[in-house]
Amino acid sequence: MDKNTYKLLTPGPLTTTETVKEAMQIDRCTWDEDYKNMTQEIRTGLLKLAHADNGDYTTVLMQGSGTFGVESVLSSVISSTDKVLVLQNGAYSKRMVEMCDYHGIKYVVYEEDYAHVPDPAIVEDVLKSDGSITHISMVHSETTSGLLNNIAAIGELAKKYNKKFIVDAMSSFGGVDINVPELGITYLVSSANKCIQGVPGFSFIIAKTGDLKQTKGIARSLSLDLYAQWETMEKDGGKWRFTSPTHVVAAFSQALKELAAEGGITARNARYTATNRALRKGMEELGFKAYIDEAHQGPIITTFFYPENCKFTFAKMYAYLKDHGYVIYPGKLTDAETFRLGNIGEIYMDDVEKILGIFKDFVSAEN
Ligand SMILES: *Cc1c(COP(=O)(O)O)cnc(C)c1O
Repeated sequence: MDKNTYKLLTPGPLTTTETVKEAMQIDRCTWDEDYKNMTQEIRTGLLKLAHADNGDYTTVLMQGSGTFGVESVLSSVISSTDKVLVLQNGAYSKRMVEMCDYHGIKYVVYEEDYAHVPDPAIVEDVLKSDGSITHISMVHSETTSGLLNNIAAIGELAKKYNKKFIVDAMSSFGGVDINVPELGITYLVSSANKCIQGVPGFSFIIAKTGDLKQTKGIARSLSLDLYAQWETMEKDGGKWRFTSPTHVVAAFSQALKELAAEGGITARNARYTATNRALRKGMEELGFKAYIDEAHQGPIITTFFYPENCKFTFAKMYAYLKDHGYVIYPGKLTDAETFRLGNIGEIYMDDVEKILGIFKDFVSAEN
């Protein structure tokens, strides 16, 4: 096998199909009608996937990786008189707090242990005790740990207390069904290179149009101005404000078609869940315990502890796995030595069997 050919067990960039990569072979013009139509089709396609094609929502595409999308929303929709409650239980929600610091956005944080989901009762207490909170912001699938947060419970509170609800659904949208209107979500952020299985290069925001329209002039950054980006896309029939990643957009358009061909989000979720559970079970049998308990384990990525009395390093394990065709992910916890296995992208049950076999050989050679 070519040293540079391996499948990614990392949650984005991830392993894409040949056909998604082939869609990038054509150089496209940004103001060409066909290209603009491609952008428009992506925007409506995403609304459908979000169950948000009811006329109340719109999609904005934003250059850059997922972080740019989250930063665009936080810095463009929370005004100087607003205040956001950030639910923090992982590195990505912590990053939201950092963004608030950078932009001078007023916030309060409810911090939870990385292995636990935020308690809706505590969130409700915070909302009751601080009437100045206008927005709630959280992460759905915490890629840091693999935990899946309960956005439905927090969405209920957002509706009950009339708060705008921002959800980073980066590593869940497309792989977990999310009914955006029903969950009371005002802004949902995801990106091209996660569960839709495109290549990296842009993020997208599904926004409640009425709320977005009220944010003109709030943005603290020119290039990340969400309202301005939306306005241009609307007025100019799918034109991006600045140079768009044309090859990435074409690959994404193809990836959306392939998601539909697989059977939509339901089928993709079934595949992810099956491979995730099989990996988790098989790894536990080999002595690698999972960090998140089964009830809160999401279907996208799993954090594992090293076996007891483990003698090998991550570097050694990484090299062995890469030699055998798979690239794994280091841990991202601050308090424990772990590593992660993602299972999104072109990863199927026969990969899981191969991966478990490779781990088995590695562990028996090392112990
Ligand atoms: C991938 C991801 C992001 C964005 O990270 P980038 O490196 O900017 O793509 C944000 N939040 C979550 C939960 C993610 O998984």
